[in-house]
Amino acid sequence: MIQSRRQFLSLAAAGTVGAALPHGARHARADTVKTSANIVIIGAGAAGTALTNRLSRRLDGATITLIDPRKDHLYQPGLSLVAAGLKRPDYVVSKTADWLPSGVELIQEAASEIDPDAKTVKTSGGTSVRYDYLIVASGLVLDHDAIEGFSLNMVGKDGIGALYAGPDYAGRTWEAASKFTDEGGVGLFTRPATEMKCAGAPLKHTFLIDDIAKRKGNGGKIEITYANNSKALFGVPIVAEKVRMLFGDRGITPVLSHVLKRIEPGRKIATFATPEGDRELGYDYIHVIPPQRAPDVVRQSGLSWADKWTDQGWVEVDKETMRHRRYPEVFAVGDVAGVPKGKTAASVKWQVPVVEDHLVATIAGKDGTARYNGYTSCPMITRVGRAMLIEFDYNNDLVPSFPGVVAPLEELWISWLMKELALKPTYNAMLRGEA
Ligand SMILES: Cc1cc2nc3c(=O)[nH]c(=O)nc-3n(C[C@H](O)[C@H](O)[C@H](O)COP(=O)(O)OP(=O)(O)OC[C@H]3O[C@@H](n4cnc5c(N)ncnc54)[C@H](O)[C@@H]3O)c2cc1C
Repeated sequence: MIQSRRQFLSLAAAGTVGAALPHGARHARADTVKTSANIVIIGAGAAGTALTNRLSRRLDGATITLIDPRKDHLYQPGLSLVAAGLKRPDYVVSKTADWLPSGVELIQEAASEIDPDAKTVKTSGGTSVRYDYLIVASGLVLDHDAIEGFSLNMVGKDGIGALYAGPDYAGRTWEAASKFTDEGGVGLFTRPATEMKCAGAPLKHTFLIDDIAKRKGNGGKIEITYANNSKALFGVPIVAEKVRMLFGDRGITPVLSHVLKRIEPGRKIATFATPEGDRELGYDYIHVIPPQRAPDVVRQSGLSWADKWTDQGWVEVDKETMRHRRYPEVFAVGDVAGVPKGKTAASVKWQVPVVEDHLVATIAGKDGTARYNGYTSCPMITRVGRAMLIEFDYNNDLVPSFPGVVAPLEELWISWLMKELALKPTYNAMLRGEA
């Protein structure tokens, strides 16, 4: 696996993936399976698009229907760069349809109802689509309403940022954050208590804004607090310890077990739920990341775990095969999957071939063999030009792609290059199903 990860990253870094194979040109494969199966995929984000491209090559004769109301594809790892003024908002936006192979039907509506017993999906336009196999790849929703006093139209004004909300909001976040790096004051950086996509991103934003203020010569004017939902600053203990040390070196103050519940933009006060009761903290700049949950259509489908993440609704899948534990013709992949790690695009890259393997094997009357090991990767930016390439699995073991070359817990320029330059071509190759 290390070898294939390396090939994946180095090909992408050289920009050769995709250039070698024009989109739409498909090589005939020896392992193609003939079938008349109806396959429905909910969501044309990172996971749904990558899987669609791979399945369209493996299955000859299948009807593949992709359902997604959004016309734009968002390269979300770029949002952290936009919110630090390092990229423009349009850096993350492309057209969904441009990534899809011919012969796939794209219904540009939301899935509004899933009936796993009747094996149907209804869309917001009232169409009912029957499936033999269903892949839930709907990503997650950002529950901004859960933060009292907050609304998205505040972003960019009065020292409020919310970069997760999309490219325009990430751009407006930079407007508020850059004012803070000029004028100084108290910066308050938050993260939610739910599972979240790219748990490194709240830290990246904190480190970058701190670094930018210091580069402007305004380090003496800022005071930064990182409000963490739990006692550990990161889910992997050795990484948590590294972050604690970096915070110490940089003069960033962590406050633990603090969950944002309310902001009062007029007074510039944020209220946190803590084990000791509510606590108010003042700010000049606040970065809001709201709780994250499965979309309602998933939570109401009966496909979610009944005994874990009950407030979040992630799909009940086997953590190694991504196959639903009660409905074997259903899989979930990407952020919506109820597995203990893996809400990153890098995880999608390793989950998608597993779903492909099991789905195609089932159609061919065989058993799939591929397993997902929880691989999750986070190029944790620590300053402009430096990052740590942190990769880990379900056991919290670090699984570096370049052992002995790229040290995972060191702030390196090469790791920065991977995030800043290599990750997007890598991601695009994944979307095309070519990596
Ligand atoms: C700020 C930020 C930084 C990140 N940084 C990194 C990083 O450095 N490295 C990394 O690997 N990952 C990173 N990620 C995470 C990565 O972007 C996600 O894990 C990845 O996009 C998940 O893919 P997905 O297909 O599950 O979801 P998405 O890509 O979000 O796609 C979900 C799709 O489902 C659609 N959908 C939703 N509801 C419905 C419905 N009812 N019916 C039909 N369609 C629906 C949506 O419109 C969307 O197109 C970052 C994310 C953010 C927000």
